[in-house]
Amino acid sequence: MSRVLVIEDEAAILRGLADNLRLESYDVLTAADGETGYELLRSQKPDLVILDLMLPRMSGHDVCRKARANGMEMPILMLTARGQEMDRVAGLDMGADDYVTKPFSLAELLARVRALLRRSNANTGAGELIASLAFEDVEIDFAKYEARRAGRVLEMTRKEFQVLRYMASRPGQVVTREELLETVWGYEKYPTTRTVDNHILSLRAKLERQAGKPVHLLTVHGVGYKWADNFVKNILRAGDK
Ligand code: CA
Repeated sequence: MSRVLVIEDEAAILRGLADNLRLESYDVLTAADGETGYELLRSQKPDLVILDLMLPRMSGHDVCRKARANGMEMPILMLTARGQEMDRVAGLDMGADDYVTKPFSLAELLARVRALLRRSNANTGAGELIASLAFEDVEIDFAKYEARRAGRVLEMTRKEFQVLRYMASRPGQVVTREELLETVWGYEKYPTTRTVDNHILSLRAKLERQAGKPVHLLTVHGVGYKWADNFVKNILRAGDK
């Protein structure tokens, strides 16, 4: 049974969500402010969090940021009010996986919860993703979302970490754009294969010595991309530590 934490300060919405999630057989935890919510998140390790943006005591943004900074990787679904488009983008940037806008359709929200849990279970299955990666003078810790070159922090977005992690977990294998869309973006509405290409370009700019002549993140024309395995000094499998 999947455990879902709902953090929402509007009592009617909180109760409605909790009742309906329980009807769908989820184990449901609730909190009505950000601080209590974060504490539950930390101590109970839910499989998914539904997180309102505007909350007393600690905002949804801060809860999300803090959870990610502390290495918590469960999917986070943000609830935003109509007209908070800027906030949605900021929410996705700081580590939320998806958002729905209030007033939302219950059926749609439940469908997204199912999809997020499905994707998350697929990603964590069988330890198939590497925990860290080192090549040249670059070191990357995927669990902490930290990247460094020669000891200096490399700024990378959450999606860039996820794209790189997926590819570097399959060194030498061709990965199609569709595969990356499916595993990294899932059902999110806006991305296209061009989104994938843009992330690859951006990763090259950050990781390759010459972005125009990549030696790690290679293009396989007409098919997709691959992470070349011949330069990797050391790959730790998730189970190694
Ligand atoms: Ca609120």
